[in-house]
Amino acid sequence: MPAEGANLQKELNPLANAGRQFDEAADRLNLPAGIREVIKRSRRATIVSLPVPMDDGTLKVFTGYRVQHSIVRGPAKGGIRYHPDVTLEEVEALAAWMTWKCAVVNIPFGGGKGGIVCDPAKMSRGELERLTRRYAADLSDLFGPESDVPAPDVNTNEQIMAWIVDTYSMHERRTEYAVVTGKPLEVGGSAGRREATGRGVLFCVREACAHLKLPLAGARVAVQGFGNVGSVSADLMARDGARIVAVSDVTGAVQAPEGLDVATLIAWVADHRGVKGFPGGKPFTTPIVEVDCDILVPAALENQITRENADRIRARIVAEGANGPTTPDADRILADHGVFVIPDILCNSGGVTVSYFEWVQNRMGFYWPEEEVNQRLEQAMVPAFRDVLAKSLEHKVNMRVAAFMVAIERVVKVITLRGVYA
Ligand code: NAD
Repeated sequence: MPAEGANLQKELNPLANAGRQFDEAADRLNLPAGIREVIKRSRRATIVSLPVPMDDGTLKVFTGYRVQHSIVRGPAKGGIRYHPDVTLEEVEALAAWMTWKCAVVNIPFGGGKGGIVCDPAKMSRGELERLTRRYAADLSDLFGPESDVPAPDVNTNEQIMAWIVDTYSMHERRTEYAVVTGKPLEVGGSAGRREATGRGVLFCVREACAHLKLPLAGARVAVQGFGNVGSVSADLMARDGARIVAVSDVTGAVQAPEGLDVATLIAWVADHRGVKGFPGGKPFTTPIVEVDCDILVPAALENQITRENADRIRARIVAEGANGPTTPDADRILADHGVFVIPDILCNSGGVTVSYFEWVQNRMGFYWPEEEVNQRLEQAMVPAFRDVLAKSLEHKVNMRVAAFMVAIERVVKVITLRGVYA
């Protein structure tokens, strides 16, 4: 591989990036070497072989992973991803980010993540159900409300969570809703969970705008990805008076300098499976992250802002709805250009926060109205943003380094109080 290709490969490796982000913050904290090693590494990684009877009568063996990065502050918490490119390294990186995310927003969870190497687009509903149940059964000694609580991630959804609840409950001989979050409302889900990540993005953007004295009303916003996170973020920001000037998804991109009508666009996407062809905007082909705007919300995939394009970002604020959209190399360039990045572990932590509320409600057997969920979400996220901003100003570091510093300090504090069992 040519040197530049190898460098790019390295820049896009999520585990290496999670490690670099951790190191940059940990270097400023003077941690004892032993403790630093303990909290950087995954606590436990499990690999399972999952035999599944396929519809054509053959037997296929899939590979599944579950990584518990940390259980120091509470049960491991994190989603399960179904994708052909899932690797143990990727799952490890995502699990570590969950530890730091839960610590930043100060909810009593550690970090975990799971994945199965599979292509759900090529599987029937029955095959997906059997695969999910086999995974849940094989890992039922790890999973549990007190130990490890999965949730949906890429290509997994409420239905898959319902199958996990059922499988786990059959093994336990009683119904246990608190074993996963992101469930359908009828199966112990929480009001407001679907909108929680986008709503958290809104709360962070409001705080960032107040700090930068940039009024959100009238601000120009570009959103990459118009799925759960992107569409809810756009909708809520538009309700605050922002102009959503450009939106993209896998099907295409549309723009309108005076602002897109987000409610109509959401209805269009529901009917047409994408933004392409939306009559209320003009199609365009410039990469959306390079669009002239005040606020850019990457809400699709990782590695969208790299050292290749970082100097073409024109936004004043980058609000990371997605996990890992900006590489560490790009972070440096954005900081040099004065772009204010609200890092993923803070910006998209609304989802896991309401997952925590779902777990609490399951354990109480008492369910809150949506207004209460939203209010509690705001009460968690606004102080989290302010803690990170204060750390950033105190240490003259960017918001990502500050978020990692806040998170690492919280984890280390607990380890110091608990001690290391030997
Ligand atoms: P989703 O599947 O609902 O939406 C993803 C969107 O991204 C779709 O509109 C898709 O068309 C679009 N997309 C994919 N590739 C694209 C590309 N190359 N260019 C432009 N758009 C593209 O997923 P989601 O739940 O909204 O998650 C989006 C991101 O947010 C992921 O990184 C996820 O890990 C992260 N996240 C989600 C949650 C949550 O609660 N859903 C919580 C935290 C973080």
